[in-house]
Amino acid sequence: PGTRRWCFADQLGPHFLDDPHQEVLLVESRAVFRRRRFHRQKAHLILSALRHRAAELGDRARFLQTGTYAEALDAVGEPLSVCAPTTWPARDFVLARDGVQVLASRGFVTDEQTFRRWATGRGTDGGKRLLMDDFYRAARQHHDVLMEGAEPTGGKYNFDHDNREPPPADGRSPAPRPWLPTEDEIDEEVRADLDRWERDGDVQFVGADGPRLFPVTRRETLHRLRDFLEHRLSAFGPHEDAMLAGEPWLAHSLLSAPMNLGLVDPREVVQRAEDAYREHGLPLNSVEGFVRQVMGWRDYIWHLYWHLGRDYRHGNALGAHAEVPAWMAELDTADLDAACLSGVVGDLRDRGWVHHIPRLMVLGNYALQRGIEPLAMTDWMHRTFVDAYDWVMVPNVVGMSQHADGGVLATKPYASGGAYIDRMSDYCGGCRYDPKKRLGEDACPFTAGYWGFLDRVEPVLRGNRRMAQPLAGLGRLKDLEAVVAQERERGTDPY
Ligand code: FAD
Ligand code: SF4
Repeated sequence: PGTRRWCFADQLGPHFLDDPHQEVLLVESRAVFRRRRFHRQKAHLILSALRHRAAELGDRARFLQTGTYAEALDAVGEPLSVCAPTTWPARDFVLARDGVQVLASRGFVTDEQTFRRWATGRGTDGGKRLLMDDFYRAARQHHDVLMEGAEPTGGKYNFDHDNREPPPADGRSPAPRPWLPTEDEIDEEVRADLDRWERDGDVQFVGADGPRLFPVTRRETLHRLRDFLEHRLSAFGPHEDAMLAGEPWLAHSLLSAPMNLGLVDPREVVQRAEDAYREHGLPLNSVEGFVRQVMGWRDYIWHLYWHLGRDYRHGNALGAHAEVPAWMAELDTADLDAACLSGVVGDLRDRGWVHHIPRLMVLGNYALQRGIEPLAMTDWMHRTFVDAYDWVMVPNVVGMSQHADGGVLATKPYASGGAYIDRMSDYCGGCRYDPKKRLGEDACPFTAGYWGFLDRVEPVLRGNRRMAQPLAGLGRLKDLEAVVAQERERGTDPY
């Protein structure tokens, strides 16, 4: 047999081992939770997944529950191998340890070499941009996914124009509720430990505790995937961007948390989605949309985390320096009247998860408009979302959502007024603010905030061609001065 394989807590599936009989080291480090204040359900998920894996492996695993990783490694005293871990600090740590062989990373559809070949010469002055769509095409061709020979299935790579519909008018989810796991005695133990650590003042959490909502084993993950493919995927495409108060799941797959724990190989996820199209005739716009998220966006974000370097996280192109407000940090909705913010923050408190559009167009949009420091926002989201890891949060927040990289990931900031939220959700109907108003008591914080934002960042974005039209609109606003003064006064106070 080869060396014992050290599997980090986000490398828990069989694809991180070379053969099914390989011996394994698993480490549960309490220091991780002491350092930062995580969502209670995120801590539960990680511990439960690790402990389930240890139980599954039985005698084949050495499972050490220690303060730090270093303590665990000192106790092991045998050579180890590890698949390259998923963050800069963890990679530094394993590379610096004697007796640890570091292998190529696993857990993504495309490998690092393939990405490097594709990215060479791109993103530099005069070179092509590092566009997700281009990367996704190359990945589809390379891995022969949804292809008919050299041509994409259905004649094009992207069916997004068939998607992005507003939510159903009756306010009901377009898909049945997802399959949810049942807790077992390992969850009971985890809950008791977390309660005790918190009582002893050893760690602090944010967010509500609640029944575990996300898979912690490969078996549970495959159950969720099957349920999604059979009952929910067909509605995924059209309503991908819609939001409904009271229907947080809509037709989303809820697979990010188990995929990021490494419980299932995303190549298997993509393969099964393609089979759902070919064998069961599921609509191509939904299947392609889902495949694009998994092998397009997820892989692209992963590779960019490394490609853009360790200092990328410090970008702050729009000069945003406000703190994360206390109501956001504490997930406290008591003083929030803005129905969208209150709904999304409440969902996050209760589940540690909201889908892509609340992240980007409510929370991210809010932070962008109010000038919250991108790195502080990244840290807050990292601790608060059950599926968050450094590699995925940094490019998504710093790049995609906060435009703090000056436009490497997205050509223009994802800032929008209340009209977008009004079109894509049912929040505004029940809100005390009016999405059409930018001035006065009932001025929508997003609509007013949008103009306040444009006014603040105009000097930086002046040369951006995609911003020419919005900035021209800014010049025509007669009441701009009053709106800017009003928004400065409101700051990041709860709405
Ligand atoms: P679905 O909507 O069903 O999509 C399928 C899968 O596609 C997801 O499970 C995920 O693995 C992948 N995916 C789609 N978009 C992205 C993306 N931009 N980056 C990486 N993977 C993607 N995703 C995370 O996994 N962890 C994060 O910490 C995270 N933080 C985000 C922060 C912001 C500000 C934004 C805008 C997006 C973030 N995302 C993150 C991406 C996306 O919002 C989540 O992957 C998705 O909402 C998870 O729910 P789901 O599994 O139901 O996804
Ligand atoms: Fe949100 Fe504005 Fe709509 Fe209220 S009116 S729900 S604050 S977008």
